[in-house]
Amino acid sequence: MLATLAVAPDQIARTINASNKPLNFPAKLMRHLLQPQLVNEPFSDPALYVDLRDERRALLFDLGDISGLPPRKLLRVSHVFVSHTHMDHFAGFDPMLRVVLGRKKSLVLIGGPGFVAQVEHKLRAYTWNVVHRYPVELVLDVREIGMDGRGQRAHFSSRNGFAHQPYAAFSCTGDVLHDEPLLRVRGRFVDHGMPCLAFVIEEKARCRVAKDRLAAMGVSTGAWLRELKHAVLSGSPAQMPIHVRWRDRLGEHAMTRSVGELRDVLLDAAPGLRIGYVTDMRFTPENLRTLAPFIAGVDQLFIECAFLHADRAHAQRKNHLTARQAGWIAREVGARAVVPFHFSSRYRSRSLELAAEAQAAFSAPATPPDEDAPADQGGS
Ligand SMILES: [Zn+2]
Ligand SMILES: [Zn+2]
Repeated sequence: MLATLAVAPDQIARTINASNKPLNFPAKLMRHLLQPQLVNEPFSDPALYVDLRDERRALLFDLGDISGLPPRKLLRVSHVFVSHTHMDHFAGFDPMLRVVLGRKKSLVLIGGPGFVAQVEHKLRAYTWNVVHRYPVELVLDVREIGMDGRGQRAHFSSRNGFAHQPYAAFSCTGDVLHDEPLLRVRGRFVDHGMPCLAFVIEEKARCRVAKDRLAAMGVSTGAWLRELKHAVLSGSPAQMPIHVRWRDRLGEHAMTRSVGELRDVLLDAAPGLRIGYVTDMRFTPENLRTLAPFIAGVDQLFIECAFLHADRAHAQRKNHLTARQAGWIAREVGARAVVPFHFSSRYRSRSLELAAEAQAAFSAPATPPDEDAPADQGGS
């Protein structure tokens, strides 16, 4: 088992209220495509912003309090994944819509059972008699995942007052909710007294550039390399043309080569990063069985630490984890780093205790089973 707790410096700095505890951040995260960051300090309603390095795009997990995200960052979000629609995870829908309306063309929203209707109800709460005139049409592409993996989908366009436009139903392949050349997002339902989606965000294999081979070709890096990486990772045909443009001290240059001719400038792919986002769940054997294979070995695990373990009976009634249970889960699944979040406001002045309890359970070689035996009985 791994025995170190590593946490993102800016996140834990807020978590532990600027204490001077040493901070470890996995160095390999720094250059990766996935750049995850909690939007808030851990007492606020949750939201995880995952910036995609060099892609000018981001993913958002949960719509809690997003007031800390400036419009420029919200406009970069292409997909929003909502774990469940308790208010603390979904009340950010309105401020999100407020920013993207009239400025952004599309936004994909993905959630669990009942999600399409819930988004529609939110939209129906407003009067849309002028938005059809906005020069930029906004289309919300809303996808709802059923417990059986089958999905419902609907579009809501600002052109027609966000009327419900049914879209073809779909089926998820396994637990894959979203798949694109550079990354995929998986989701599985855990029990929180209601279905709640836990997520894993996976960066696909990562290509590195062979600088010497570039030099041998007499070209320099440029935006075309990104295009080449996309083409290679998505399995595009070898004859597909890539427009190679670069600039050096002699000026600008351009040529066209095929994917097949250029492929050699990319070195073998390294395994991609995996990030887990687990919030709002009961500590039950069934939830642990669902989670363990799903989040095994993640590079970074964002996990709720709602209550102190001394209050575990209360945590159980509220269908939440304690910090010790969260740390224990992280250790059991072999997470490489843990970021605790979603602290109950009852511990406003005791955040250090929550972080320390999660850290102790994550670092400890074993936790007494009678203390941490999964509870079978839950609350409401
Ligand atoms: Zn909840
Ligand atoms: Zn919550």
